[in-house]
Amino acid sequence: MSELALLSVEGLSKSFGDLKAVQNVTFNVDSGKIVSIIGPNGAGKSTLLNLITRVLAPTKGKVSFINQDIISMKTKDLVKVGISRTFQSVRLFHVNEMNVLENILVGFHHQYNHRMLASCFRFGRTRKNEAEMLERAYEIMEMVGIRHFAQTPVKELAFGNQRLVELGRALAADPRLLILDEPAAGLNDVETEQFSKLIKKINQAGVSILLVEHHMGLVMDISDKIVVLNYGEKIAEGRPFEVQNNPAVIEAYLGKEAETAYVGN
Ligand code: ADP
Ligand code: MG
Repeated sequence: MSELALLSVEGLSKSFGDLKAVQNVTFNVDSGKIVSIIGPNGAGKSTLLNLITRVLAPTKGKVSFINQDIISMKTKDLVKVGISRTFQSVRLFHVNEMNVLENILVGFHHQYNHRMLASCFRFGRTRKNEAEMLERAYEIMEMVGIRHFAQTPVKELAFGNQRLVELGRALAADPRLLILDEPAAGLNDVETEQFSKLIKKINQAGVSILLVEHHMGLVMDISDKIVVLNYGEKIAEGRPFEVQNNPAVIEAYLGKEAETAYVGN
């Protein structure tokens, strides 16, 4: 294991009946880095993220975070050790017209107690910790570019901005590792470009990032390292240009395209 490893995945496997969705996958996310997982449809990317974040239990293998075994932890407790994630489908709180600020405040829940959160919601009161929390919420909204929407109900926002609220809420947990599942899915070209800059900014602020993403331009632009899966197995790992020129990777993608073309015909 590398000395810098923040997240270490070792021999992780998951079978669904006879199907080996993830097979013996090993890789690290080193501290301060952006790592992307790519691969054709059905390669096992989502399953791998779900194993790491304990949404699914592995058939075998180890996952550690800062040298602590996290395989036996519950998903909701990962945030306490410094792992925060977003989901492929946006999950925000709309009840009672909850606005952007309130959604960001929910992200603080493991750091601050519920009474404090409740009083922030009801009175905007400014005892020391509450004031700190609000200040931090505004900093986060500023960083992800949604500060001007603070009082807007999230259900009134366009999809791209809802994604930013979700990202902001994940950041409110003050993670060391942020895990993103297809964060650019559904974004237009301009939004994708802005998103790419934002990811780099978050990373420069000291947050390591692990993401699954289909948008190759984005992946090649932001990744320090890319892990390539095919039929559940890791077939390549390296810097973007290394992976791009790897014959096994090219074959995996072309093979799938040929299959799809055939099925399509
Ligand atoms: P990717 O995210 O790379 O497209 P997935 O991780 O979603 O791939 O799926 C990997 C393989 O595992 C696919 O063949 C998929 O059909 C299968 N699979 C995923 N989840 C389940 C499940 N809950 N039960 C059975 N098979 C599953
Ligand atoms: Mg998937």
